[in-house]
Amino acid sequence: MRMLSSSLLYLRNAFVIITMLMIVACCAYFWSLYQGVENLRHEAERRLSIVSATMLTPTDKYSYLPAVIAEYPTISLTLLLKYDADIILKGNQFLQKLKSETGLAVIYLLDEQGMTIASSNWQEKDTFVGHNYSFRPYFQDAIKHGEGQFYAMGTISRVPGYYLSQAVRSDGVLLGVLVIKVNMDNLDSLDRVHVRKQSEVAVTDENDIIFLSTIDDWKFRPFTALDEKAKQKVKSTRQYEGVLKPPLQITVEKKLSANESIVSITNSIESSAADGKDMESYLVRFAPFSGSSWMVRVFLPMEPVKQAAARMAVLSAVMLLLLLLALMYLMEIRSRVRDRERSRMALQQAHQALEQKHAELEKLSEDLRVVSITDALTGAYNRRYFIDTVVKSLEATSKSGGALSIIMIDMDYFKRINDVFGHPVGDKVLQLLTTLCMQDLRVDDVFARFGGEEFIMALPGTDEVIASQVAERLRKRVMAHVFEVNGQVINLTISCGISRYRLGEKGIDEVIKRADDALYQAKSNGRNQVVVQI
Ligand code: GH3
Ligand code: MG
Ligand code: MG
Repeated sequence: MRMLSSSLLYLRNAFVIITMLMIVACCAYFWSLYQGVENLRHEAERRLSIVSATMLTPTDKYSYLPAVIAEYPTISLTLLLKYDADIILKGNQFLQKLKSETGLAVIYLLDEQGMTIASSNWQEKDTFVGHNYSFRPYFQDAIKHGEGQFYAMGTISRVPGYYLSQAVRSDGVLLGVLVIKVNMDNLDSLDRVHVRKQSEVAVTDENDIIFLSTIDDWKFRPFTALDEKAKQKVKSTRQYEGVLKPPLQITVEKKLSANESIVSITNSIESSAADGKDMESYLVRFAPFSGSSWMVRVFLPMEPVKQAAARMAVLSAVMLLLLLLALMYLMEIRSRVRDRERSRMALQQAHQALEQKHAELEKLSEDLRVVSITDALTGAYNRRYFIDTVVKSLEATSKSGGALSIIMIDMDYFKRINDVFGHPVGDKVLQLLTTLCMQDLRVDDVFARFGGEEFIMALPGTDEVIASQVAERLRKRVMAHVFEVNGQVINLTISCGISRYRLGEKGIDEVIKRADDALYQAKSNGRNQVVVQI
């Protein structure tokens, strides 16, 4: 039963600890994920502005060119004499030469109707010559405002670019529009490895089709599935003919703001085979590309953030576990100290109890010793104690050569008292005699009840003369004492026999015997007297 409850307790503790670890790990994971996403959002914002700026910057250096080229007489001449084949040829050659000198993608000349009459690519298969670009905003803007600029996908080349236009006038009369195109292949020229370390970039056109991307596989994929209208438009412009691929497979996991979300992109079979990953999660932020209907998107991979969050979760759980272990260790130590203190206290108590018991036993033993040497009725020493003590003092007496006397005391006619007044009265008489005997005792004197109503006294350092004086004093005191029972006075007398230790004598028996003989003598002589027998 006890084992069952302790293993239940163990299970409960384990459950509590595991739950705590899981809660802490989850909190750490989500907190770290949240922080990581916040950092990623700042990074995405920064990268987006860098990418946009990188794409815009190269176009700035060409901004002055259209106006300069338009000033060339060849340009206005070509427009003025656009039906003259020689002039057109010269115009074409002029533009071709300019192109190779400036490094531009294309330079071409439109008449006031938007028709290309000369172009740097006049000799190429996909030449602009003969194509009408009146629908392009850069043409319309140049007609209206004298100049224009426009980001667009090349309808023929399918290369995205920045188109800059300049109205060509002669004496204030509009002749046509000069257009230069700066190819936007600068994304490709970006250090792709460097860019891809932290982010991916994709630029989509007005139909949301990716035409620039750091990932080749994404190129020419609609970012979202095209609707019918867009499909028709793409088809009619023949912009992506032969290169258009199925839409990117994007799932929005979480929308963070109007232009930020976390998405997962399923890689196409070829690219997943190359990367070894089927699905990639990104934080994506987008912004329209200034001056165009394009959209620039930066994709920051979520994987490092998720990994960092997982690491943080494990680390927190491990830290908590270590903390709990340290706590448990401390508690264990504390409980051991407490146990030790408890057993020390118990030991101390046991020791005290033992000491108390010992003291009680000592007292008991002392009581027993007193009982064993004392007469219960009178409180005087008993015969055995008397003999033992006197034998010991005899040794000193025999060594020093001093005297020792014995007085034997016996109540006269005591039996009669018992018979007449009863045994209890006899007992009282014995107690009284004891008190009277002990009144004159000196420190070294030994007094004892010798048996029945006989008492004995040993007086060390006392000869028989002094002893008989002592006995005489006692006899008189007993006789003088008034003992009353039920209003009746009882006369008490004693007889005493005295003897003296003879030097060289072995033991006390002979001395006692002589005192007893003397007592017998006293009785025989009529009682109430002292007899000495040396
Ligand atoms: P004697 O003068 O010759 O000594 O006469 P006695 O009557 O005193 O004679 P004896 O010494 O022979 O008597 C002793 C009596 O003392 C006998 C006994 O009943 C009595 N006695 C002995 N011990 C006790 C006692 O403890 N209490 C009482 N009340 N009587 C005792
Ligand atoms: Mg007697
Ligand atoms: Mg007697």
